[in-house]
Amino acid sequence: NNNNGNQMNEVAVKVAVRVRPLNNREKLHQHQPCVRIASDTNQLVIGKDKVFSFDYVLPPKTSQNDLYQNCVKSLVNGLFDGYNATVFAYGQTGSGKTHTISGCKTTVDDYGIIPRAVETIFQIINTSQKINQRDYIVKVNFIEIYKEELKDLLDSSEKDLQIREDEQGNTIIYGANEVSCSSLEEVMACFDSGTLLRHTGSTNMNEQSSRSHSVFTVCVEQRWSDSKSVRESAIYDLRQTQTNNSYYLGAKFHFVDLAGSERVQRTGNVGDRFKESIHINSGLLALGNVISALSSDANQSKKKVHIPYRESKITRILKDSLGGNSNTLMICCVSPSSCNLDESINALKYASRAR
Ligand code: ADP
Ligand code: MG
Repeated sequence: NNNNGNQMNEVAVKVAVRVRPLNNREKLHQHQPCVRIASDTNQLVIGKDKVFSFDYVLPPKTSQNDLYQNCVKSLVNGLFDGYNATVFAYGQTGSGKTHTISGCKTTVDDYGIIPRAVETIFQIINTSQKINQRDYIVKVNFIEIYKEELKDLLDSSEKDLQIREDEQGNTIIYGANEVSCSSLEEVMACFDSGTLLRHTGSTNMNEQSSRSHSVFTVCVEQRWSDSKSVRESAIYDLRQTQTNNSYYLGAKFHFVDLAGSERVQRTGNVGDRFKESIHINSGLLALGNVISALSSDANQSKKKVHIPYRESKITRILKDSLGGNSNTLMICCVSPSSCNLDESINALKYASRAR
């Protein structure tokens, strides 16, 4: 069992907090910042005196490139050694999740994690191919989860999708359209068409895109025939298969833009208007439980902790790419404005459960 391999005792889940700048509207209304970051520490102070510490604390001036280079690039390198990776953005609507994961395309500086990671992937492929003569295949898929239902964002025909697991424990989304891509431009064209489908397919665009999770996945497959370049390690046993002198190694990177973490007030009908309930997205709850169980597993290496992957669609999809032999980065996005103090504290509490 590879979960007992040497990776397990390292904490494979890292947590970054990114504080976005005050936006123009907030400046206009003279919102006060409620978050302070002491330089050169990984601590953040919110409100009067609540202190949180994380693996990375990124102040408002952090550029898209800084974030990518410092927190994400090593995960892309790991893909080529067979390590799956997951980066997800957590936080209330408007806190900067989409900006962080995909960014906007007005200027190259604004590119988020996805185009930067994909660019690195093709750079690595183009330089290593000349040396090792391997065949590389890059495939993408793009799934949305809304109210625990899966939708294929790369296929408008609304087929049924099913989450399955193969004998090696790899998660497969059965029925999902996988598109082979040979350049950054092709990958981004898939991403853009999926994003368009996400927005046009819904009757209530805002409600759905803030309450749904999207998972954009890039798989890198390598095939080669020279047995000398076969490495021996636990991860290679897991991801590598050999048939008649032909070798295969595959790993995938999930880029996850999670549903808004804000508590949604639901008013019942007139009869029970006093029973106003607070609805929390079940996938976020389940993901928090999985991440928290993974970190306590890594911290107390002797005890085997039950990891509750089966509780939601998002945790089932990410199962083979969270913890164990994979690298996970949670980016907790927060607004600096004192108007969002309560939601920001909630988000930081959620993120600290992962440590
Ligand atoms: P979310 O996806 O969490 O709802 P967005 O990513 O859409 O939030 O961000 C809301 C707005 O704030 C967008 O206009 C976005 O461009 C801007 N924004 C978010 N984070 C940053 C940042 N770090 N720097 C500059 N602008 C940002
Ligand atoms: Mg968003």
